[in-house]
Amino acid sequence: MTIIEQIEQWAQKDPDRLAYQSESESFTYQTLQDQSQQLAYYLQNNVPAKAPIIVFGELEFEMLVGFLAAAKSGHAYIPIESTTPIERIQLILEVAQPAFVLSVSEWPVGVKSDVPVLSYWKMKEKMENFPVVSLQSVIGDENYYIIFTSGTTGVPKGVQISHDNLVSFVSWDLSAFGIKEEMRFLSQAPYSFDLSVMSIYPALCSGGTLVPMEKRIINDFKTLFAFLPTLSLDIWVSTPSFMEICLMEKNFDGAHIPSLKVFQFCGEELPRKTALELIRRFPQSKIFNTYGPTEATVAVSGVEVTEALLEEFDRVPIGYVKEDTEVRLTADHELLIKGPSVSKGYLNNPEKTQAAFFKEEGTRVYRTGDAVTITEDGLLLYEGRIDFQVKLHGYRIELEDIDHHLEQVSYVQQAVVVPKYQQHKVQQLVAYVVAAENSFEKEFQLTKVIKEELAERVMDYMIPQRFIYMDQLPLTTNGKIDRKGLIAEVNPA
Ligand code: AMP
Repeated sequence: MTIIEQIEQWAQKDPDRLAYQSESESFTYQTLQDQSQQLAYYLQNNVPAKAPIIVFGELEFEMLVGFLAAAKSGHAYIPIESTTPIERIQLILEVAQPAFVLSVSEWPVGVKSDVPVLSYWKMKEKMENFPVVSLQSVIGDENYYIIFTSGTTGVPKGVQISHDNLVSFVSWDLSAFGIKEEMRFLSQAPYSFDLSVMSIYPALCSGGTLVPMEKRIINDFKTLFAFLPTLSLDIWVSTPSFMEICLMEKNFDGAHIPSLKVFQFCGEELPRKTALELIRRFPQSKIFNTYGPTEATVAVSGVEVTEALLEEFDRVPIGYVKEDTEVRLTADHELLIKGPSVSKGYLNNPEKTQAAFFKEEGTRVYRTGDAVTITEDGLLLYEGRIDFQVKLHGYRIELEDIDHHLEQVSYVQQAVVVPKYQQHKVQQLVAYVVAAENSFEKEFQLTKVIKEELAERVMDYMIPQRFIYMDQLPLTTNGKIDRKGLIAEVNPA
């Protein structure tokens, strides 16, 4: 079955079942089917065939309608979060050359582009009168979605995920983690981060309900903890960082939230301490650590985290590889992933695609940049990165991406950003900066304006927390900026 057929079977079997339930609204599978069908009719008739479309917003139900409408009408969708700075949107538009923007949140007026923008809300009334016609949905190796991620040159890279890539991920996810029909899934990750795919498609393909956790609630502790026990969640999907926030509340445990049966983590290292605490708080639940890059569709390995496992390993293992996939290591321990969930590459970026992907006997292979060891029985153990990619609160950041944009800021001559770690986890980004001439009396004033200008160019999680000013940046013997030296300085042994 295609992804769309898997989702639509629920509208036939049980039309009134909830596909989505937020704090204030609920939507059934029938509504999801009807609205996405109507919008797909519009897209099929108004957008050039196969061209990608942007769907812009937060965690609204209408974003999902947009995604499914795109897929049903043969278009790949590109999710963009509404808090994305204009400069970054601009860079994504230049790379993606989309044919259309569907805005669920208001599209920023400052974006310079000829691309047609349609507000979902303006469209909504007209949609009801559209006829039901047959549609050409995305299939096989055609792009289903494109997720943009940080690129070392400062230009984001669009990872192209095909329909078949997604099927490979979803079938494994539905079989390996105890997911049953009609479960309620936490949907916390922004839709522009591929972790969200771990909630959306497993939930919708198994007739489950997506329960979004909006930023407004996450950012307000009191509301968050009053809200959580009322959601009757069965499956928790999040980054370990979000879990750590929740563990700060002492009543966050199995006694107060007995519905929680499964925890799935992905996107960054699951600290051993967090895993142990979670086992203590939810002794009846199953906890899984999963691993994978966006380029291999969300996750390719997983393992149940138990006390016994944690006794054996001092860093939480990242799991056994799914059946349809092979992995191996290069001489310098870099993990290569080969299988049907590996992307065809970065959209309109043959250079970066060639550097990271290749084909072997007709199957695609991705160089992950992750240093890994593999135990005799095939369990993957994570050791870190071989490059300067980091994770902060689960978000993927190339440090060079921040350097690039920091150097565009008018008060900055030269800059290099390094991570400060605590037990393998990035705590802080520290920017070493050679400032341009300025008349600020105090460094904090300079830092304030640099941060403000940087915020116009990069996502908020990419803004360094600490700024250190220097007359010149240290160089290695071959004349490059000595990032490794600075990393050692920030992280004394
Ligand atoms: P993303 O493409 O945003 O999913 O980021 C992928 C990268 O996140 C991987 O290449 C790893 O470096 C890191 N990562 C993902 N899951 C894990 C995990 N369970 N443990 C350690 N690192 C992880």
